Amino acid sequence: EDDAVQSTGVPKDKLLRGLLSAGFDEGSCISRYQSAEYRKELSHKPSSYLTSRLRRYEALHKKCGPYTELYNKTLEQLKSGHSTGSSECNYVVWISFSGLGNRILTLASSFLYALLTNRVLLVDPGVDVADLLCEPFPEVSWFLPPDFPLKNHFNSFNQESPQCYGKMVKNNTIANLNGLIPSSVYLHLAHDYGDHDKLFFCDEDQSFLQKVPWLIVKTDNYFIPSIFLIPSFEQELSNLFPNRDTVFHFLGRYLFHPTNQVWGLITRYYEAYLARADERIGIQIRVFDVGTGPFQHVLDQILACSIKENLLPEINREQHIFSPSRGTQKSKAVLMTSLSSGYSEKIRDIYWEHPTVTGEVVSIFQPSHEEYQQTEKLVHNRKAWAEMYLLSLTDMLVTSSWSTFGYVAQGLGGLKPWILYKPENGTAPDPPCHRAMSMEPCFHAPPFYDCKAKVGVDTGKIVPHVRHCEDMSWGLKLV
Ligand code: GDP
Repeated sequence: EDDAVQSTGVPKDKLLRGLLSAGFDEGSCISRYQSAEYRKELSHKPSSYLTSRLRRYEALHKKCGPYTELYNKTLEQLKSGHSTGSSECNYVVWISFSGLGNRILTLASSFLYALLTNRVLLVDPGVDVADLLCEPFPEVSWFLPPDFPLKNHFNSFNQESPQCYGKMVKNNTIANLNGLIPSSVYLHLAHDYGDHDKLFFCDEDQSFLQKVPWLIVKTDNYFIPSIFLIPSFEQELSNLFPNRDTVFHFLGRYLFHPTNQVWGLITRYYEAYLARADERIGIQIRVFDVGTGPFQHVLDQILACSIKENLLPEINREQHIFSPSRGTQKSKAVLMTSLSSGYSEKIRDIYWEHPTVTGEVVSIFQPSHEEYQQTEKLVHNRKAWAEMYLLSLTDMLVTSSWSTFGYVAQGLGGLKPWILYKPENGTAPDPPCHRAMSMEPCFHAPPFYDCKAKVGVDTGKIVPHVRHCEDMSWGLKLV
């Protein structure tokens, strides 16, 4: 059977129902059109409004992207310090910040914000983004040119910077501008942001920011759930995403295509260890406790969850031989990812030393064990990206609480994972895990503020589609 052809004889839809635009050079980014061959069909169809907005965005990007005439013109405004009135091209500049999972979530968040505000997204390549992700937009690059004037300030931008929006509000700088609009503003949307920075999520502040041609963003959070609570974006968002729990899924499948190097890691691994199994199960282990694992309570929790939820078969401790006729056993391939190798080794031994009660054959694989987070190393991050992607190709997924690494996998895969609850004081919680309400990532640091009434409010209780997360009681997610 031809890989590109389903059993029905219909070629797989490599453009993902219009999500992707045709006409990219295939060889420069093989994953873009080949990924459909490794995935199940999209469970939802992107709205025709979303696909038409993406094409419109691409046209804007082409018109305003790096080194275009209009880019150079808007850059002049940036150098002058003040906006000269409404400019044709306005920008969101994303600063490369934090771990890879976090960055994938913040790129999606910044892109949606750009889409909603008719801005062009430009990406600070940091040390590794170009090594990991293909260009998502046709013809014109999304990477910020290396000679961008404010580039040397990116590292030092923080809440106290005079260009920081929250700081400007706090110091009344904006009230004293006498109508003069700054050409750029720094938005501090990282987890440690303050009440003034959080005003970003208010309509009144959005109408001021709308006039600023260059918005520079530093964030490590998936802030989309709170964008859904801004009234002026409500209608547009519901047109773009009639199913609100597919936001990251569609944006992610649109934006994040592994480079050929990473695609090689993904496809070689998939073909060697996963392709032939009857069922694929992903288990993502991220332990935030101090000290080096593996921890017995974490191992117990993984097994308790997987067996209770019927993801892995129970073992038979009494019987030593279990022999249905050869070749008829169903096979389950389990892809485990973790910084340490201990968990998968132990589980692999269990299924070697004992038969399963169902007769199923269980194989356990773990691509790497990097021991600790090494954010600046190229090969390390390639492997991290490959592993997130491989997890997204499984049929059923178990993830760890609080981990953006797991969120990326579930979102790209369109999978509602079983989330392992966070252990407290070295004990596995009971129940060990819980099925997620939706495949959407959790916003870990949302504001709790009612912009109109100017009082605190529980933002997880305002609308039915923005709720508190399963794995973090104060977080917000789309359902
Ligand atoms: P989070 O910290 O779990 O939210 O995820 P991030 O991706 O933002 O940061 C964790 C980083 O640690 C990853 O980018 C990897 O560099 C590394 N890391 C964590 N878990 C794994 C894993 O299972 N496999 C690999 N290869 N790297 C991991």
